[in-house]
Parts: sequence; structure tokens; C-alpha cells
Amino acid sequence: MGAGVNGCFEPPKHWGYHRKGYRPKLHSEIRAFANARRRLVGKNSTFHIVNVRLDKDGAVKNSAPCPNCFELLRELGCESFTYSISEGNWGIKTT
Ligand SMILES: [Zn+2]
Repeated sequence: MGAGVNGCFEPPKHWGYHRKGYRPKLHSEIRAFANARRRLVGKNSTFHIVNVRLDKDGAVKNSAPCPNCFELLRELGCESFTYSISEGNWGIKTT
């Protein structure tokens, strides 16, 4: 398992979706993959991702992957991406 949060500390991959002025950032799903990669067995391991986004009040928000991230993760071996939509609602994208 790897965990990732959105942040501005790493080299930008593309423009983020936060409202406070668009800043280049790494989306949480890519960061999580970077954290988990060392635990994958073998170079061609496949993996599944579960992504949850909470707002500052702890409410569950939509965390569907953006097209850029999903395409990158698919190329890296991601087989399914489960994401929060709202409290109690989940979506899943498979490759
Ligand atoms: Zn993204």
C-alpha cells in the first residue's frame, strides 16, 4: 500500500485543479504510486488504486482520476482505479 496527498513539493507533472491560482503539482494518485512502486514485485507488476478525497471539513468528495493521471497509471500497470464520488458512493475505472 502507498498513500499520497496532493502537494506542491515535487516536480510538476501538469496543472492542478485547485482554485487558489493554478499551480503545477503532482496529483495524489501519482504520488501514491511513486510511494508504492518500491513495494511492487517485479518490473511488470500490475496494481489497483483506491483514491479518496476529503475536503477540509472531512466530507467525501469526487476523486476520479484526471485523464492525464489515468493514462499514465494505465501505462504503468494499473488494472483498476476505485475512487470516491460522495459519502457512500464509489466509482471504478478499469483498464
Ligand atoms: Zn491527475
